[in-house]
Amino acid sequence: MLEYKYIEQAPIKTTDQDPFESMMARFEVAAMLIDLDPGLYQYLKTPQKQIIVAIPIQMDNGQIEVFEGYRVIHNDVRGPSKGGIRYSPHATLNEVKALAAWMTWKCAVVNLPFGGAKGAVRCDPKKLTLVELEKITRRYTVNLLEVFGPERDIPAPDVNTNEQVMAWIMDTYSMHMRHTTTAVVTGKPMHLGGSQGRVEATGKGVMIVTRSVMEKIGLKPPDTRIVIQGFGNVGSIAAKEFRELGCKITSISDISGAYYNAKGLDIGKAIAYRDSHRGTLEGFDGGEKISNEVQLELECEVLAPCALEDQITSKNAGKIKARIIAEGANGPTMANADMILADRGITVIPDILCNAGGVTVSYFEWVQDRMGYFWPKKQVFEGLERILSEAVREVTEAAEKYNVNMRIGAYVLAIDRVAQTLKLRGIYG
Ligand code: NAD
Repeated sequence: MLEYKYIEQAPIKTTDQDPFESMMARFEVAAMLIDLDPGLYQYLKTPQKQIIVAIPIQMDNGQIEVFEGYRVIHNDVRGPSKGGIRYSPHATLNEVKALAAWMTWKCAVVNLPFGGAKGAVRCDPKKLTLVELEKITRRYTVNLLEVFGPERDIPAPDVNTNEQVMAWIMDTYSMHMRHTTTAVVTGKPMHLGGSQGRVEATGKGVMIVTRSVMEKIGLKPPDTRIVIQGFGNVGSIAAKEFRELGCKITSISDISGAYYNAKGLDIGKAIAYRDSHRGTLEGFDGGEKISNEVQLELECEVLAPCALEDQITSKNAGKIKARIIAEGANGPTMANADMILADRGITVIPDILCNAGGVTVSYFEWVQDRMGYFWPKKQVFEGLERILSEAVREVTEAAEKYNVNMRIGAYVLAIDRVAQTLKLRGIYG
């Protein structure tokens, strides 16, 4: 084995702290397996651009506050970079770097003609009015006018951003370009060039990919208990899709806590409750209230972390009882938990495959915007099924070829694709 070849060049210590380190630890293993050229290794581990912008805003009370915004373009060798924007009081450049690299690998796993990027604004949207949120979004966009563009870098929604935020970005960009440019962002409202099925895409994709793994290990939907962490866009749609497949959703959760019902929760009721209670499940009485920590350790067949990164750590990995972990969120499992889960025979469907349905339909949205011709939902979902099924097959083949788990299989597939493109293009300079 080439074990230390790259570690000497880029020492990697995986603590329980840092998503960029978690990303690099997997990249490292995959790079060794495919014997990646050391020069290409250096190239691919380094983000192409890391931008920090100041966002001064006059708040509703008349005072000026300055927020910090980030955009990291990890790599655009396979096409314009693609990646969401999150609003969070905890956002850091390091987190955005990890998320940007994950987007490069994710787009390559599903073979889309995109590179990877990610953005964030360090703010707490819950403490902002709609007017303040709009001002932050527009000023962030203006600061990044030279970076964004349908052929350059295309944002999308992520944690705490939504269709409305995408509409403001599209409008601001279009005002400066002097013409309407719908393809500059995806995840837009239907009236502004959004795609049918984009809202459901990530959660539906989680179900499609998990269903193929369930079939592979002979798990039938009626015998499958599902625990879902996070009840936002991804978690709640995944819950609905799994329910429609015939599985039993025994627990859901959000920031307010977790809710458990051994007989299965009524997901329609939970969604309606959340929608009529300012987006939270606080007070939901469809199940017993338990803590977020206990939820992850419940007996179940599928655990789907669909909230934030770094939820499954070296500390709780040994207590997880699921047979499959379906990573709806980005980076929910730390690198040093991977081995513990593998030793216990738990199949992890990695984020860069499991939640790739979102970027796949974003790609369809971008294609439709550029054509000016829009597809019916059926066509969107057929395309989604086709691309994700193909990706599951290719990841499984790569994992079998190198005798590794699905995560490393996905990284091998992705890094090899990006490296091959890079070799064909060559290094300019
Ligand atoms: P969201 O803001 O709609 O929902 C996040 C949910 O997680 C909320 O219900 C929130 O209350 C809950 N949550 C936060 N902290 C929690 C905790 N500690 N325990 C339990 N629940 C917690 O966000 P989203 O768009 O659903 O994204 C969720 C994850 O999926 C993120 O990692 C995101 O990067 C990833 N993702 C999203 C998309 C997409 O299309 N929206 C695509 C790919 C990946």
